[in-house]
Amino acid sequence: MGYMKKYYPDEVIDRVENINLEDLKKKNITTLICDVDNTLCTHDSCNVSQNKKNWILQAQSMGMRVILISNNHVSRIEKIATSLNCATFGFALKPFPHTYRKILKTYHLSKDEVVCIGDQLMTDIWGARLMRLKNIYVKPMSESDIIYTKFSRKIEKKIMKEKL
Ligand SMILES: [Mg+2]
Repeated sequence: MGYMKKYYPDEVIDRVENINLEDLKKKNITTLICDVDNTLCTHDSCNVSQNKKNWILQAQSMGMRVILISNNHVSRIEKIATSLNCATFGFALKPFPHTYRKILKTYHLSKDEVVCIGDQLMTDIWGARLMRLKNIYVKPMSESDIIYTKFSRKIEKKIMKEKL
């Protein structure tokens, strides 16, 4: 099962709002590239909980940039991003590098000042790893998923069992 190593996250945190922002700041992280569906809200809702909103606000008030990145439709993601005062890159085709490269270029970022956060090993984490970006895996908020995700969740469970 060694070939699964490409999906191993750097870190596992149960939910996004439990990611320690002080730690990231100490590590000179300036930018959080954060997934939306099942990381910030469930895929059938645009509601981001107050805890998650506060976490984003805290990051922003500490001078960090929070960028939302999603494979979902641009219109859905923009609606959520606007309410959170975040820049957004929808229809990102994670894990492919294109959108990550675009973000690095747009904001003149070096790779070591970025952390990618998301709930899917085969898009969020693999995408970050392909780009050699730091990454944090958060547990998916909802078990009810679209069909593709249902399939990849099975593989994810295997990978996490292997890693932990
Ligand atoms: Mg997701």
